[in-house]
Amino acid sequence: MLNFYPGPSKVYSEVRAYMQDAYDEGILSTPHRGEQFVQLSRAVVGSIKRKLNIPQDYYIFFTSSATECWEILIQSLTTHKSFHIYNGSFGEKWCQYAKNLRPKSEGYKFDVNEPMPVDQLEISTDTELICFTQNETSNGTQVSATTILNLHNKFRDTLIAVDATSSMAGLNLKLIKADIWFASVQKCFGLPAGLGIMACSPRAIFRAKQMNERGHYNSLVSMYEKMLNYQTTHTPNVLNIYLLKRMLEDREFIKSIDQQLSDRAEDLYTFFSQFTDFKLLIENEEVRSKTVIAIEAPERLVDEAKKRALYHNIRLGNGYGPWARNSFRIANFPAILDEEYEELKRFFLHYYA
Ligand SMILES: *Cc1c(COP(=O)(O)O)cnc(C)c1O
Repeated sequence: MLNFYPGPSKVYSEVRAYMQDAYDEGILSTPHRGEQFVQLSRAVVGSIKRKLNIPQDYYIFFTSSATECWEILIQSLTTHKSFHIYNGSFGEKWCQYAKNLRPKSEGYKFDVNEPMPVDQLEISTDTELICFTQNETSNGTQVSATTILNLHNKFRDTLIAVDATSSMAGLNLKLIKADIWFASVQKCFGLPAGLGIMACSPRAIFRAKQMNERGHYNSLVSMYEKMLNYQTTHTPNVLNIYLLKRMLEDREFIKSIDQQLSDRAEDLYTFFSQFTDFKLLIENEEVRSKTVIAIEAPERLVDEAKKRALYHNIRLGNGYGPWARNSFRIANFPAILDEEYEELKRFFLHYYA
């Protein structure tokens, strides 16, 4: 089965062997306060920083998902309000959870075909956290490095948190331009679901310590204190942390992965531009995602293409949110091989050209 679903997505084929090794090395029943776990955890943190180009002074944390990170950040870095800039379902959900916890939180919705309008943003000085989604998985848009830089320059005194769930470990993100970045491993990391990775700047940790919010098992200060010894506040997903270590050790540096994905994205966009019945959901090239390709078509055709593909052992991603029925999505993630995209293209050429 070829799987182009943008999460959970195809896992690296090596995961099978890594899992066997995890069992054989006894890592599956090792105590999370013991030396074997601490060594593993320290090694993974080193590999994450080295392979994903994360600044040395950023702090790495293990969580259970990106959704959990949304909550941790609102709980531990705001007492009053956050400000959410979004154009799709994931960004909007984060905003909604923030409003549930901190009713004064605000949201600003922008158009899917426009770059994030940094110039127009008015964010009051009592805002404690600015939040946005770097790669909106629901509609296949992304916020460029230049836009992030502009946001950073305009609101220098406010912490910025970035949901990079479907781009981290795929794109060479410039982490220095924001304080907090997080992702789940079932997207570009090519691993099974159940682990989130969060990177925080020294400034974010300073703020967390100042606020000293300790009301939750996953309060950021508590996580920070435990992570000083490469430990977690509660028993973590040790198997997935092990898989992450092995995967990162075997992967190239993020710069070359980014280059490969960028080239492949360009190729896929060109390919899907040639059909008359299918149309790229995002018209503005500038804001098109490199890791999630969204294609629009009449409902009947979308339905038929997905079914026909499945019959040929190809899983296309469903549309999401308002585009659930009149679009489908194709993940452009590192674990998926070039030859698999060639097969996907042959399928579309054969039936739809
Ligand atoms: C998948 C996704 C999430 C949710 O990830 P979970 O692991 O289910 O918490 C959040 N944000 C974005 C942008 C995503 O793509």
